[in-house]
Amino acid sequence: MAQSEKIPAKEQEIDSSRLFNIRVWEGIQYKFSKDLGIAIKVISEDGKINTDETNHSDFYALLTATDAGRDYCDVKIENINKESKLVTLYADCAYYVATTYFYGKKFFLFVGVLDRKQDEKIVKKLAEEYSIDYKALLKAYQEQPTFPESRLVSFADLIVDLFNIVIELSVQEFITQMANKQKEEEIMKMSALMEASIIINSTRNLDELLKIIMQSAEKVMQAEASSVFLIDSEKNELYFEIATGPKQEEVKKLRLKMGEGIAGWVAYTGESLLVPDVSKDPRFAKRVDDQTKFITRSVICVPLKVRNQTIGVVQVLNRIGGNSFAKSEIKFLEALSSQAAIAIENANLYEHLEERAEQLNKELKTTNITLSIEKLRIESIVQSMEDAVIAINKDNQIVMINRVAERIFEINAKQAFAGQLGDYIKTKMIVDNFNAVLEAKSTLKNEVKFQLGMKEHIFAAVFTPIISEKQEAAGSVAVFRDITEIKELDKMKSEFLNMVSHELRTPLTPIQAYSELMMVRNVDPEKVKNYANIINKETQRLGSLIGDLLDLSRIDAGKGLSLTMEEMDFTELLRTVYETFKSASSKHKIILTIPDKSETILFDKNKMIQVMTNLLSNALKYSPDGGDIIISMEDRDGKIITTVKDHGLGISKEDLPRIFEKFYRVESDAVKKIGGTGIGLPIVKYMIDLHNGTIDVKSEFGKGSEFTFSIPKIKPG
Ligand code: ADP
Repeated sequence: MAQSEKIPAKEQEIDSSRLFNIRVWEGIQYKFSKDLGIAIKVISEDGKINTDETNHSDFYALLTATDAGRDYCDVKIENINKESKLVTLYADCAYYVATTYFYGKKFFLFVGVLDRKQDEKIVKKLAEEYSIDYKALLKAYQEQPTFPESRLVSFADLIVDLFNIVIELSVQEFITQMANKQKEEEIMKMSALMEASIIINSTRNLDELLKIIMQSAEKVMQAEASSVFLIDSEKNELYFEIATGPKQEEVKKLRLKMGEGIAGWVAYTGESLLVPDVSKDPRFAKRVDDQTKFITRSVICVPLKVRNQTIGVVQVLNRIGGNSFAKSEIKFLEALSSQAAIAIENANLYEHLEERAEQLNKELKTTNITLSIEKLRIESIVQSMEDAVIAINKDNQIVMINRVAERIFEINAKQAFAGQLGDYIKTKMIVDNFNAVLEAKSTLKNEVKFQLGMKEHIFAAVFTPIISEKQEAAGSVAVFRDITEIKELDKMKSEFLNMVSHELRTPLTPIQAYSELMMVRNVDPEKVKNYANIINKETQRLGSLIGDLLDLSRIDAGKGLSLTMEEMDFTELLRTVYETFKSASSKHKIILTIPDKSETILFDKNKMIQVMTNLLSNALKYSPDGGDIIISMEDRDGKIITTVKDHGLGISKEDLPRIFEKFYRVESDAVKKIGGTGIGLPIVKYMIDLHNGTIDVKSEFGKGSEFTFSIPKIKPG
């Protein structure tokens, strides 16, 4: 705001006589009287200014020491002869009177000197008249400096100029003071606004906020009361959200119709309003004052706008001291109102945000719980899986490894977590597959082989990409299933089929050939007998093979085999078997060492024959270079212990534990050359088990084998 607006420019608006800086002027007077002996006095037309005639000479000091003397020094305005410039005012002194106008006001300036011509006469008269010591008065009078009267007139003009300068400076000073005061007020208002905005940012309690804002409005604007109305748009009414001042409780109960009263008007129009005197404004609603017993004189009311929409009004009432509010204050209240609007909006916002945050929090909690349950579930499933699982993120970092994966890849999940896949998984093919899946974003199935302990294992691996919501590859997961055994079984199965067909064909060929020879006429009966023998043997071989297969299928189907216990001498059974085998091979010598005494016990004769047949056939088969085959038997600890010992190929340490497994055959060229199905020994073991017995094997590779089985002696009856 320009200074001209703040300070009244018109002369009459400045009361110069009031603004005149008397102290400055008296200083000047003092200087004049002391140094030049000139007495100067100023009287304003309206009498508001009446400076002392500051002649601090002893003469005047003595003169004004008495009431009468002081009375004698008083200037009587009626004594001023306006016509004459030279007047005798008091103390019989002659004064030159000069006048000047300033800001429309008239000032009289009396400039006087002592008239030395009448010296003693005046002093005497004064001393007598007012009982003052004549000599002292005269002395003081004579000490007064004199000033030539002839120069007084021109000097008076100078004094008038001086006076004018003093008074002008006084007015200027006043103007500056006013401006400063205005500035101070501005600063106060600014700081009130600042304060309001700080409060708004620090408190979220709306009521508290509005109250503080309105209190600062009251303070700065020196108002008696203030209030904030909000619009109830449903009822089209205004209600007091906040009220300060002496009648705040009463006023809060009231409501205004939209358009009613000054507040209603401002709410309706959305325009600020200054009403200096409400009694002259028809919009004023007197009913509120009647109800609250408050007397409203002047009002400033401004709209409360949130995002350009009027949601209420802010008003301040009555300047303390009776004056009206100034127009310039509307701006201040508007600024404050916009701060209040921010407060309201913030409060609503926070309320809304808090609600939303709470709701989100709840949702999040539920989702989190569901997710963590789901995560736990998945984790425990993954952890308990028999398959190995590894997951990586898109940066090839390991994010999950289950227990099986830890074991087979020999890595520690905790250490490997977030580590590079390549640092932990050494099989290049696996790393390559992971990468390929990340790139192609499609599933890949593969068989991967790698060393596990001493043996190479085969794994069926499935690599699947993890696709994010944005359809990007976020990582990939691979599951490895150890199919080594299945593969082996598969291999065994096909080998078995090959073997069985071969084993079945082998006896069939001689049977077919010899039977054809027998059909030729006139064959020598000796030869016929020989042929029939061969046919018989091969048929037995075929029969026992088919028997074994049938037994195996029964065992496999879970039907099992049942025992038909018979009472029989076990040594006799061994002798019978020996008889059958003793001339089976020319390369071998079969020796039977059994006790002389008979061992009549209960056992399944046919099954025991099958056991012995299998063991003896193997002993013959797996000692291709011949050698002794010893059948021995002993009765020990209530058990019949039978041993079949050969001097053949023997079995390595690694193969020994597996020879009783179904279809297991030693993987060596020598064994491969010898036919077999890998079902003989499992059946033998099964049958011994049925008899509650045990079977054991001792063997040294290249040196022969010794199969020993024992069955409990179950005595008949
Ligand atoms: P097969 O029909 O192959 O003989 P078996 O179950 O009877 O089946 O024997 C299993 C394997 O045990 C044989 O393939 C062989 O490698 C080994 N085996 C069995 N008996 C002997 C033995 N007396 N000497 C050496 N190896 C043997």
